[in-house]
Amino acid sequence: MSGQPPPSPAAVSPPAPWQRELATAFTDAGALLDFLGIEPAGLPTAATRIAGFPLLVPRGFAGQMRHGDPADPLLRQVLPTDAELAPTPGFVADPLSEQQARTPGGLLRKYQGRALLLASAGCAVHCRYCFRRHDPYQATTARNAWDAPLAELRAATDLSEVILSGGDPLLLSDDALANLLGRLAPIAHLRRLRIHTRLPVVLPSRVTEALCAMLSDQPQRCVVVLHVNHSAELGQAQTRACEALKRSDATLLNQSVLLSGVNDAVETLRALSERLFECGVLPYYLHQLDQVAGAGHFAVDDHRARALSEQLRAVLPGYLTPLLVRETVAAPNKEPLA
Ligand SMILES: *Cc1c(COP(=O)(O)O)cnc(C)c1O
Ligand code: SF4
Repeated sequence: MSGQPPPSPAAVSPPAPWQRELATAFTDAGALLDFLGIEPAGLPTAATRIAGFPLLVPRGFAGQMRHGDPADPLLRQVLPTDAELAPTPGFVADPLSEQQARTPGGLLRKYQGRALLLASAGCAVHCRYCFRRHDPYQATTARNAWDAPLAELRAATDLSEVILSGGDPLLLSDDALANLLGRLAPIAHLRRLRIHTRLPVVLPSRVTEALCAMLSDQPQRCVVVLHVNHSAELGQAQTRACEALKRSDATLLNQSVLLSGVNDAVETLRALSERLFECGVLPYYLHQLDQVAGAGHFAVDDHRARALSEQLRAVLPGYLTPLLVRETVAAPNKEPLA
């Protein structure tokens, strides 16, 4: 109809094992609670009403939750609750006004020297505290979708780092990722390639040999920033995924969000840092929650956040203590809450 020939059979790769695994993810709160042996009696009615940002939880991730515990810190991150429907003063749909930072070509440029390319619209898990929950990016994986941002990256010689974000950039197939990385490779002023992803944690089978080979072949130094909020997210499969990424010579960092009822205790944050280090990952940022509507029940006030950060600094070496930061609309960088 469009005049385009259909893709040749050779061009359509069969789904990879990780893609097939993702296709079996929980999308129904009742089914997830049933799997966990939790009575859905108190099942929040919100579960069925939060249509724009429905539950999405890979089975492996659900398998790391404690059986029968409705207060499990991993479950709390992903289960829609009635609390999301209660408005919290100051919590709005687009707390970071990111539209202002959009370039004509579709990059996000807020800070000096680095630009963010929205490589994928989707995620493998839906985190209830996500600041993009009301505005999922309309990225596309069409072959020409990256022409404009890549042209901008080539022209912006003041940039030394490109950050792939989204959504989750590792949701791209190996073929699509190879295409993107191949087009970034010849841009000489880009010295570093950073990937922000939750996939090695919520779907560790995504860390394929092909992915690791791509990272080690990339002329730019690669940095992979994981998003882990609790040590229970890091089991054996995640250890192996991190080790594989390390062998590709990528630098592994982690950023967490400080979340009430998930990780707002010194011992929890300490265990997280220590577990990350066992996996070869260094803590980078501990973010104060973005004030997005629907996430008010995760908020930890600044006073407590600072106290937690100080206590953490007292019990950990400096290199295992993440920097407590907040992102604001106008600031020239993520602001430390000193
Ligand atoms: C967070 C962010 C970055 C990266 O900030 P770092 O402090 O370098 O980690 C870059 N661009 C945008 C738009 C961001 O939101
Ligand atoms: S993986 Fe990141 S972008 Fe996706 S829902 Fe979770 S916090 Fe949001």
